[in-house]
Formats: sequence, C-alpha cells, structure tokens
Amino acid sequence: MLILSTPYERAMSFIQATFDRLKLTPKERDFLNTPQRILNHTVQFKRDNGKEMELPSYRVQFSNARGPYKGGIRYHQTADLEEVKALAALMAVKTAVVNIPFGGAKGGIQVNPKELSRGELERMSRAYIRLIADSIGPDTDVLAPDINTNPQIMAWMRDEYEKVKGVYAPAMITGKPLSYGGSLGRDRATARGGFLLLEELAKVEAIDLNEVRVAVQGFGNAGSEMAMFMHNAGAQVVAISDSHGGIYCKNGLDPIRIHKYKLKTGSVQGQYCEGSVCDLERLKLDETEVISNEELLEIDCDLLIPAALDNVITEKNAKDVKAKIILELANGPVSPEADKILEKKGVIVVPDVLANAGGVTVSYFEWAQGRAGNQWTASRVDQELKRIMLQAFDDVRTEAKRKDLSYREAAFNIAIQRIVDAMRVRGWVN
Ligand code: NAD
Repeated sequence: MLILSTPYERAMSFIQATFDRLKLTPKERDFLNTPQRILNHTVQFKRDNGKEMELPSYRVQFSNARGPYKGGIRYHQTADLEEVKALAALMAVKTAVVNIPFGGAKGGIQVNPKELSRGELERMSRAYIRLIADSIGPDTDVLAPDINTNPQIMAWMRDEYEKVKGVYAPAMITGKPLSYGGSLGRDRATARGGFLLLEELAKVEAIDLNEVRVAVQGFGNAGSEMAMFMHNAGAQVVAISDSHGGIYCKNGLDPIRIHKYKLKTGSVQGQYCEGSVCDLERLKLDETEVISNEELLEIDCDLLIPAALDNVITEKNAKDVKAKIILELANGPVSPEADKILEKKGVIVVPDVLANAGGVTVSYFEWAQGRAGNQWTASRVDQELKRIMLQAFDDVRTEAKRKDLSYREAAFNIAIQRIVDAMRVRGWVN
C-alpha cells in the first residue's frame, strides 16, 4: 500500500479521487490541483529580552471561485507549508459543502505559542498582519482562529489591519471578541454543528442517543463543547483526552466536572493525577482508568470523535477502531488509507468538511453582521446554523444514496461540483 506522507498529499488524494468520479477536464483539474496563491514570509518581532525572533509564516489562498478566501490561522510548531496548504484546500471544500459564499484559505505561523509571553504573542500577531495586509480584507480573504489562536488574537489582528490600511473593517476577520464585532454563538458553533448532524444521523439510522457511548479525543474548544452536548443529550461520554493523555470510565464521565479540573490543573487527568503520579485509590473508587491517546482511539464505544490533531487514525490502527460511527471534528484525523479500511468495516464516517463546518458557517454570519453593521440574536444564529447544517446533511446523504458513496465521497462530490460550476460560469474554464 502506498502511504501518503504529507497532509497536503492526504487532502489532495480525497480531492483527486473526486476529479475522476466527476470526470473533470484536465483544465478543471489543473485549477484545483494547486493553491491559487501562496504567501510565505518570515515574521520578525522583538522578544521580551530585546532579541529579534524570526519565524516562518504562511497564508495559502487555495480557491476564490465561489467567494472571498476564508480560513483560520494556526500557531503550532508543526504548521509548515504542507500542513497549511492541506488545510486551505479542505476549507475550499468545506465552504462549498455548506454552500456559503466563500472560497478556502488557511494561515499559520510555525511557533510554539506556549513559549511566548502575552506581549510577544501580540507583537508576533501584529507583525504577521503587516506582512499580509495587502492580500487580505473583507472582500478578498477573511481570517479566523484555529489551533492556539483565540478571540483576543483576532482583535489584535483586526486592530492592526485597520491601522495599516486606514479603514474600518470588522469583516476582515471572524472569531472576534463579542465586545469588538464578534457574533453570538461562535464559541460553540463547531460543536453545535457537529451535534446537529449527529441528531439527524441518529434519526435516519434509528439510533437512540441515550444509548450511545462516546469517546472524545481533544478537550479544547471543539472537543469540550461536543462532549457537553452529548452528555446533555443523555449519551455516555466514556473517554476523554487531551495532549497529556486521557481517562476512561465505562459508566460514563462528567464532562462539566472534567472541564473544571482542566481549567484548574491544565489537564483532563487533573482530577486524579499530578504530572505522571496518579491517585490509584481514587481511580479505583471511581472505576476510572488512565489511558493514552492511542488507547482512546481503540476504546470500546459506539461513537468516536477525534477533536485534536490530524492523521490520528491511520492504516496502523484503523482495523482496531471499535466505534461504529466517527464524527471528524478535527481536520483530517482519518488518513485516506484508514478511510478505506473503515469503509470496508462498515464504519460510518461523518467527514471533517461536513462535521466541523458549523464553525465556518457562524463565521459567515459574523462576516455578514460586520458588513451590515448589525448584531444577530443568539436564537437567529442557532436557527440559521441549523438550517444550513441540516440542508448540507440532506445534500450529502442524498448524493451518497443516489451513487452508493460514503459520506466523505458524497461531500467531496457536491463541493467540487459547486466549485467547478462557479469556475465555469465565471469563464475560468469552459
Ligand atoms: P484547541 O486548541 O482549542 O484544542 C485542541 C485540543 O487538542 C486540546 O485539548 C489539546 O490538549 C488537544 N491535543 C493536542 N495535542 C493532542 C494530542 N496529541 N492528542 C490528544 N489531544 C491533543 O483547538 P480546537 O479549536 O478545539 O480545534 C481542534 C480541532 O478541530 C483542530 O483540528 C481544528 O482544526 C478543528 N476545528 C476547530 C474548529 C473550531 O471552531 N474550534 C472549527 C473547525 C475545525
């Protein structure tokens, strides 16, 4: 088996398989085989000790066939060009799956932000915006948060952009604080979107959510909110993990309590462990076990929700996954090789480009509010999110049934067809 080794190769393998299914022409394929534009700059800023720091930074604008480029900015030590290109391509597909008027982009700085002070983080974020200011904007390329970036960083970025360009431009970035142009409902949008899809899936597959046992990998913004949605719906959240490791209890964990401990101790194991030293008595009393992230993926459960990093389910562990449903809240958690193994096993995979699209959908609402100068109520945000997610689920399910495809294949079919239709009417291809 040929193993696809870079994130971009993995993302493109899903896209290129779609070219064949849709019988695209060579010119149409060329357009979608490479990003339209890559900005590759060195970010320079002063450390607190007065020394200059230089870091690689990227903004990849994959496609604007359907509207302005749209995508988040990731601060991570692994955020290299291959990763950012992959995420930009997936964004173009995602905005098309949910049919919102955006293209796809992604940005990244190759840095471990945990090693920076708040002041350094601000100087770095502002320096990044100065480098790309001429290539972004409300009608050009709309930024957003991703791993290790947050509303405060979005606020610094908007402020810097407005200063440099001398304009008022709340719609140049989404995921802003509520006090500075943010939208109600954005913080829980990704998890809520995923949960709405699960409710629909449960209906069509005749699954009772009260009987579902769930494992969630990653307990950040997306994973923690999702665990709480499932818990509140009556499901049993049996395993949760973060970068330090996880915990498992066959009788069910309380995500609200774990969240409190995570805030206090920095880890989901914090209730039982200090570093690598764990209170075995308490673990035994609560019938809870400490598990690794690898073990979580293979735990006995019905629903597995990867909500941390990409490429965690590969050809090495796919055969050992016990869950019958995987909801991809993370981007790219299942490799193309693993996808084939899971499909053969009959596992239902709700793909990232649909499962986590609630985030970019509410970002779209935030962009629309920024442009109109108004503020939607929380119930309007929730209602519109529900309408869009349920329509997307219905589109994907109909395509899957009509052509006997997996949900991933169906979602990519719909998205690539919508992008190509836009390219055709714009006269980019005939
Ligand atoms: P986050 O930074 O808030 O949380 C990430 C979580 O993953 C943390 O709990 C961290 O401890 C954990 N983690 C890190 N390394 C890990 C490892 N090796 N094993 C297990 N857990 C690990 O990030 P987030 O915003 O929740 O995003 C998580 C994933 O969801 C990413 O793939 C992101 O691209 C995707 N996503 C997020 C959103 C959103 O709106 N937040 C939208 C779309 C997609």
